[in-house]
Amino acid sequence: MKTPLIFDASVNGRKAVTLPACDVPAVKPLPAKLLRAHDAVLPELSELDVVRHFTNLSRKNFSVDTHFYPLGSCTMKYNIKSTEKAAALDGFAGLHPFYTYIPDGGKEVQGALELVSNLEDMLSEITGMDGFTCQPMAGAHGEYAGIRMIEAYHNAKGNKKTHVIVPDTSHGTNPASAAMAGYEVITVPSRPDGEMDIEALKAAITDNAAAIMLTCPNTLGIFETGIMEIAKIAHSHDTLLYYDGANLNAILGKVRPGDVGFDVVHVNVHKTFGTPHGGGGPGAGPVGVKKSLLPFMPLPKIVKQPGGKFAVVTEDKNSIGNLAPFFGNFGVLVKAYAYILLLGKEGLIDAAEKAVLNANYIMEKLKPYFDLPYARRCMHECVFSALRQTKNGVQALDIAKYLIDREIHPPTIYFPLIVKEAMMVEPTETESKETIDSFIEIMIEAAKLAESDPSALKNAPVGASIGRPDETRAARQIDVRMSCGL
Ligand SMILES: *Cc1c(COP(=O)(O)O)cnc(C)c1O
Repeated sequence: MKTPLIFDASVNGRKAVTLPACDVPAVKPLPAKLLRAHDAVLPELSELDVVRHFTNLSRKNFSVDTHFYPLGSCTMKYNIKSTEKAAALDGFAGLHPFYTYIPDGGKEVQGALELVSNLEDMLSEITGMDGFTCQPMAGAHGEYAGIRMIEAYHNAKGNKKTHVIVPDTSHGTNPASAAMAGYEVITVPSRPDGEMDIEALKAAITDNAAAIMLTCPNTLGIFETGIMEIAKIAHSHDTLLYYDGANLNAILGKVRPGDVGFDVVHVNVHKTFGTPHGGGGPGAGPVGVKKSLLPFMPLPKIVKQPGGKFAVVTEDKNSIGNLAPFFGNFGVLVKAYAYILLLGKEGLIDAAEKAVLNANYIMEKLKPYFDLPYARRCMHECVFSALRQTKNGVQALDIAKYLIDREIHPPTIYFPLIVKEAMMVEPTETESKETIDSFIEIMIEAAKLAESDPSALKNAPVGASIGRPDETRAARQIDVRMSCGL
């Protein structure tokens, strides 16, 4: 059902609350220039109308709290509510950010600084790095920070570096971050088994390569078994190895990127460590580095002083500088910290194992119905192709739209780019077997419909408030203005 704008439901003079008449005499009138020239344009409704309006709007939301959300690469896991409670604690949520700039750290801010510092230590331990910064406010922001530190490292050594190498499975943000930092991007193809083609890497790499950016497992959900050789090749050219940590949830407690040769790591805490995200934020992309890059870390830095107090360093000539106001997305960091403490070492390992088990279970069950271009054990996500269904005119997009009618968020489609008609499914560790089984059943129904009644898929969704918007126009010529009488 279409919900009218709250302004359209407005009735002149209707009120949600009636305040008692003011019994405080006016002392001094406000200066005329501060007074409104006309009344504020606000909708006038009863309290019940307002409650219903916003409750009904919220029911249009699609979220992990309401439905299964197997969006590959995005790791849409359930977010434990107690972490929200931690972030809302008065000492965190009520803290004025300027407190953090008190030179030797006022007592009001010590707990917050300790939390960020502890989180940096935990992430160093989890990923095998020598130090972390929690400044970046998203994964892509972390990539940019990492590349800027790599640039600073090469500049300090007098290295002449012009290129960054990425595999053809890479997430779009990797080449974008490298290009934003001024590097030219070289793409290395993958082998038929889904791993980076090491021979092609050897042919492409020169002393001009500043970095190789990789995610492991890669975006096909496949672990790069040649990673240590890749690291060796990189380091023989003084090329640094960058780890895109968006898929860290697959290897938590199993492999530490730092131990297999990565020099720089970003972690999407909003994916791996269970802080809610979607719709563009908020997230956090802490970055970890090996010793040789520590001097270039962004500002401000938190330093533990000999007496145990935490201080904030705001100036350092070697640093790449400031990337975010204050301490980045602090609330997101609190949730990640609470999540790590809550699960502990065993819990994190268990989360990785279950995420991998769930993805492999789906892969095995759906293998007879959809093409599997890289048919081998996957990690936390599996990538199918709807190529078989295209014989009947059905594409990945149609299956995705059908899933909307079945109240399942579509998987990531048409990514990774090297898979035709890709459907990338990531169930995460937080889903029950019943939920996963019901998803499998619905996917099988979709495969059967593609044979028996393709139009049922081509016409989907029928139950959503909008059908198939022109996505290009929606992105390029969006117009969401409304007229409210001004
Ligand atoms: C999500 C993702 C990113 C970007 O992270 P954001 O936090 O969305 O900026 C980078 N690489 C991969 C593989 C991802 O899945």
